Amino acid sequence: MKLYDTKAAELRDFVPIEKGKVGIYVCGPTVQSEPHIGHLRSALVYDLITRWLSHLGNQVTLIRNVTDIDDKVLEKANEQGLNWWELAHSNESVFASDYRALGMLLPSGEPRATGHIPQMISLIETLIANGHAYQAEGSANVYFDTLSWPSYGELTHQALEDMESEGDRGEKKNVQDFALWKATKEGEPESASWDSPWGKGRPGWHIECSAMSTHFLGQTFDIHGGGLDLRFPHHENELAQSLAAGDRFANYWIHNGLVNVGGQKMSKSLGNSVSSKDLFALAEPAVIRYYLTTAHYRSVLDYQPSVLEEAASALERLHGFLQRCERELGETQFAQVDKNPELPSEFIDEMNDDLNIPAALAVMHDAVTSGNTELDEQQLREAAQHRDQVSKMLEILGLAPSQWSLGVSEEHAALDKLIASLIARRDQARENKDYDTADEIRDQLDKAGIELSDGPSGTHWSLS
Ligand SMILES: [Zn+2]
Repeated sequence: MKLYDTKAAELRDFVPIEKGKVGIYVCGPTVQSEPHIGHLRSALVYDLITRWLSHLGNQVTLIRNVTDIDDKVLEKANEQGLNWWELAHSNESVFASDYRALGMLLPSGEPRATGHIPQMISLIETLIANGHAYQAEGSANVYFDTLSWPSYGELTHQALEDMESEGDRGEKKNVQDFALWKATKEGEPESASWDSPWGKGRPGWHIECSAMSTHFLGQTFDIHGGGLDLRFPHHENELAQSLAAGDRFANYWIHNGLVNVGGQKMSKSLGNSVSSKDLFALAEPAVIRYYLTTAHYRSVLDYQPSVLEEAASALERLHGFLQRCERELGETQFAQVDKNPELPSEFIDEMNDDLNIPAALAVMHDAVTSGNTELDEQQLREAAQHRDQVSKMLEILGLAPSQWSLGVSEEHAALDKLIASLIARRDQARENKDYDTADEIRDQLDKAGIELSDGPSGTHWSLS
């Protein structure tokens, strides 16, 4: 498999450090607010990489952190009159349920920043001892000394003097130096303050990822990922401080593209942000998942409402083919689905080519076209082979009907049988003019949240 390594700025053959094992660290969300479409896309990219690497026979350890303390979390909590940890926890739970709703696999670990303060303190101590960090005069602030690290800028290929910087130098030696430890400020809650060798404070943002990635994956690990917006300064800083502390850190750096809305960059100031709530109100989770895979992971994904309709019909076409096979092959010798068919080599090539999922989707649609033609022409063996392939490809991408409650789930089928028998009893009672029993059955279902509607074609039920 080839992956585009942002640090090397080229496609590289992916070779795990230890054969058959892959460690991935991806920067997760800062849980200051609920997720938006960009968060979902980013998480899904690493879910898909994990699935593909697992399919290739690797045991994948995916670590995705949760930044549950930083300036923005404190600010937002203050605005809303909540404890910062209360706000963080509530948002984190929305992220978790949205990830689950989109069929993402649970990462191997989801460490929170606040749970790893000792690891961060010890990393900062190492950096100070190595001469790559310093404590500011008369405060508990500790900074990384960028001038002490000549390769600072190597991830994003820029020289120190060309880098953008915010604010003035202040107490720092160089304007690019970044905070490793931040002294507690006046008015900040006691619960957001930890003891350290430099005084009370809390960690800077970047240090958490360096500390947690190596804590879980070791001094050197395979892949570090995150959104393109994190390359600088976040990832540049992670890389510098980890190497300066003596870790070998990540072997491959991958970055996913961002989401545009109607051709424009999504931003708070433009007011065009699309929340996950907006998306879930418009489409089935499986459709959202499909849509989120339709652009290459490194490209910009554009959002407009019509894309969900397109995704819905594309997914329906794929699932519709499997349903057709079930109907038309169900009674034949080809009824049994082969769970491990040989996949089309084009699909494997596309997935191995820097996870080119849009092209892999095209291969899957081609297989459906062939399969439908074969069904038309009664070439059942060939149709069954295409069914097996499509079914497996969908499963790898987390889009197989069995992974979703699309169509009829087993629970739905069982409930339908049960209600049908109650409807039959009610019909019988009505025929016997036993309206008390008929009403009783309707009330019983009503209490369970099931609504009956009588029509010319009989009685139908729905969840009220
Ligand atoms: Zn990070």
